[in-house]
Amino acid sequence: MFVDSHAHIDGPEFDADRDEVIRRAREAGVSLILNVGTGDPHSGAIERAVDLTARSENVYAALGTHPHDARLYDDAAEDKIRKLINDNSRVIAWGEIGLDFHYDNSPREVQLEVFRRQLRAARELNVPVIIHTREAEVETIEALRTEWSGAGLPGIMHCFSGSQWLADNALQLGMLISFSGILTFKKADDLRAIARTVPLERLLIETDCPYLTPVPYRGKRNEPAYVVEVARCLSNLREISFEEVGEVTAANFARLFGLALPVV
Ligand SMILES: [Zn+2]
Ligand SMILES: [Zn+2]
Repeated sequence: MFVDSHAHIDGPEFDADRDEVIRRAREAGVSLILNVGTGDPHSGAIERAVDLTARSENVYAALGTHPHDARLYDDAAEDKIRKLINDNSRVIAWGEIGLDFHYDNSPREVQLEVFRRQLRAARELNVPVIIHTREAEVETIEALRTEWSGAGLPGIMHCFSGSQWLADNALQLGMLISFSGILTFKKADDLRAIARTVPLERLLIETDCPYLTPVPYRGKRNEPAYVVEVARCLSNLREISFEEVGEVTAANFARLFGLALPVV
């Protein structure tokens, strides 16, 4: 049994075959998908993610404003996300939120402010957060330390691609570390070395689809069924069975969100 802890299947890339994609995931043993609703909070993208949870019992949602769109975040966006999380039991996390100093699609000061605001809001609502961080390790840890560490709530460092320093500090703050298809890339030796050091009970796997398609599907659109390739890679790294990686990471996900796992 596997859980894809981070997917974007509500977008147009999946309009033609979304039900088919969800079915294929189930056939591959992926019993649960956390679909992350991002984009302009005023565009309807967030509502789209909520609607998807009503269409499939295997899909849960997280909602938040991505650092790319931080400049579009305002009081109305915050109220909307807050209400959608409150009113829908299948919306289980605030995210993805964080800092992306690689693309800088929103000004850094705005990203920092909006990240902190969303951490505070999630804390008030008592829900875990999903963190996106790129080329902003020190600032991310600093924000988590000041706004999140006292909350007694967990979170996920999604699509982990940072340094050992980031992994160690995130673990110290009670976060879980989620690895994506990047782990299977030829040049990812440093990342694979870090993946060997994360305690099993803190590991998650994800696709972040439609992006970051794992080996051997490189060049194709990514989809939740392919999360098993991340599990395969981790199984080699950790010298435990493929099935055990699935069971452990699924159990971690269930524990994090207080969910019962469906029987596939
Ligand atoms: Zn992300
Ligand atoms: Zn994402």
